[in-house]
Amino acid sequence: MENDLIEKLIGSFMILPGVGYKTAQRYAYHVLSCDKEGVDNLAHTILEAKSSIGLCSVCGGFCQREVCSICSTRSSRLLCVVKDPKDISVMERVKGLNCLYHVLHGCISPLDNKGPEDIRLKELLQRVNSGDFDEVLVATNPDIEGEATAMYISRLLKPFAVKVTRLAQGISMGSDMEYADEVTLSRAVEARREI
Ligand SMILES: [Zn+2]
Repeated sequence: MENDLIEKLIGSFMILPGVGYKTAQRYAYHVLSCDKEGVDNLAHTILEAKSSIGLCSVCGGFCQREVCSICSTRSSRLLCVVKDPKDISVMERVKGLNCLYHVLHGCISPLDNKGPEDIRLKELLQRVNSGDFDEVLVATNPDIEGEATAMYISRLLKPFAVKVTRLAQGISMGSDMEYADEVTLSRAVEARREI
């Protein structure tokens, strides 16, 4: 009986990215040997964050209010387009980059049956159409899906008076932006090219 519950706990950890059975097993055994207070705190914080953090109605990033702190306090004519909410914190590490953000919540990926209508492109179009921006910097990962998405956005925004740019290839093909160091990322922003 207790084994079933341990297996269930192991299975629960396996929803995390990069966590296979062995790592999940290590986490499960660790949690069981932790004091109750630490485990209560972990479980409570996960539930609290999940129930009180939603999406910013402007950029689509995570926030606890209707509009996030970046959208409500910052002014910029540069719009940085990213794939996931976590990428905002990656781009925020680039010193001197004063931009607003737009989160796509995915990339175009024919292999996963994900088309242009499955990501937040309609919202992007509306924001660009409002005339609030001079440049749209597409900062999706330098992999096949990220490139395909950047090309699609470039075509989509052709009729508008905005410059569409892409991060320079400082980051090696197929790697994840998340792991790029600040210097590499800053260079990729500085040397961004028009597409
Ligand atoms: Zn926002």
